[in-house]
Amino acid sequence: MAQMLDEKLEPIFQEVLARNPGETEFHQATREVLESLGPVLVKHPEFAHQRIIERICEPERQIIFRVPWRDDKGVVQINRGFRVEFNSALGPYKGGLRFHPSVYLGIIKFLGFEQIFKNALTGLPIGGGKGGSDFDPKGKSDDEIMSFCQSFMTELYRHIGEHTDVPAGDIGVGGREIGFMFGQYKRITNRWEAGVLTGKGLDWGGSLVRTEATGYGATFFVDEMLKARKDSFDGKICSVSGSGNVAIYTIEKIHELGGKVVTCSDSNGYIYDEKGIDLALIQQLKEVERRRIKDYIEYRKHAKYVAKGNIWEVPCQVAMPSATQNEINGADAKILVKNGCIAVGEGANMPTTPEGVKVFLDAQIAYGPGKAANAGGVATSALEMQQNAQRDSWTFDYTEKRLQEIMKNIHELCYETAVEYGTPGNYVNGANIAGFIRVAKAMVALGVV
Ligand code: GLU
Repeated sequence: MAQMLDEKLEPIFQEVLARNPGETEFHQATREVLESLGPVLVKHPEFAHQRIIERICEPERQIIFRVPWRDDKGVVQINRGFRVEFNSALGPYKGGLRFHPSVYLGIIKFLGFEQIFKNALTGLPIGGGKGGSDFDPKGKSDDEIMSFCQSFMTELYRHIGEHTDVPAGDIGVGGREIGFMFGQYKRITNRWEAGVLTGKGLDWGGSLVRTEATGYGATFFVDEMLKARKDSFDGKICSVSGSGNVAIYTIEKIHELGGKVVTCSDSNGYIYDEKGIDLALIQQLKEVERRRIKDYIEYRKHAKYVAKGNIWEVPCQVAMPSATQNEINGADAKILVKNGCIAVGEGANMPTTPEGVKVFLDAQIAYGPGKAANAGGVATSALEMQQNAQRDSWTFDYTEKRLQEIMKNIHELCYETAVEYGTPGNYVNGANIAGFIRVAKAMVALGVV
């Protein structure tokens, strides 16, 4: 493990382990935050007195439900649905829905827990939550996706609302799925309630820049880290993993800022294109045709496809893991550092294992953890909620400027908090401490609820 826990925090962590058996990702996410909080309790004894950390580690509400639906052959299928409403001190629960076969309670709780602090860092009025299902969208027809989404919403609708809980997308949930779920919510409630979901289509209440926001935001965050070191993206060789929404718009923004992205991946393998990833081609394959990235080399003959290989062995100066949790382990992190990587920005949630994080921190490279670096997605969701409340829609340029400002502020807050707590350059401590303090202060003010 990266750091020892403070003596006040160790029993709290032991309690988390005992109360949530088998939820390894949730354990990992809580431990990572607790490791930063020792010095906070020294400065703020009221947080210990009010048992804020114990309360934050226990979700306010956890919902688990059956999702029955019929496939194209008429066969009844059963999945499990989740919504964990973790913390509403700063605003309605806010966080995405993940549809992926790996989903179980431990994954949703790790994501929901991280979301509390990420959302707090944005400075916008949003609490933390997360949901999803073990449903696998891969290979399903549009009809099957619709059938699943409608059944999922038939239970979820009673738990959500613009002032209560506002879901959005995550892995496996994009504009198509949000559309089907919004349609079903509208039908059941007889309310055209734009603010109940974010990531909506542009014709029916969505916000410009929301699709691009996580990738753009993560790139802005890395740009800020580089600037703090008197450096920039210009001419940098960059490695991006994943080929979903986050990866695609990370690649776009890096190219705009003068870097060159040479990789991207899916769960089967990765592409190495030394001339720089052809973004239009990836978009066509993934977003339009919903194909696998190995097909990239049919069109770009000089590029290489490596099945089941290790993408982090490709030398790069900036790495932006944008696929999923624990995709960089200790050994991968060592390879990255050895090959000259000077900055890591996490587009995915918790993509680096604790051993990997330790390698990056020890090497003193610019390491931007997910809850700070990828907060642009949820921040732009909050901007979508603002536009919905105003019954207005903002221009692309204006919305992107707001996003950029938010990422700059998050960077500054994390940077300064790390300095204030005696660990300059450590954005893990900066993000955990700054996010925690915002939520903790609100919880103290709201009393024992
Ligand atoms: N799933 C995204 C995240 O991990 C976005 C959540 C949202 O927009 O509510 O932050």
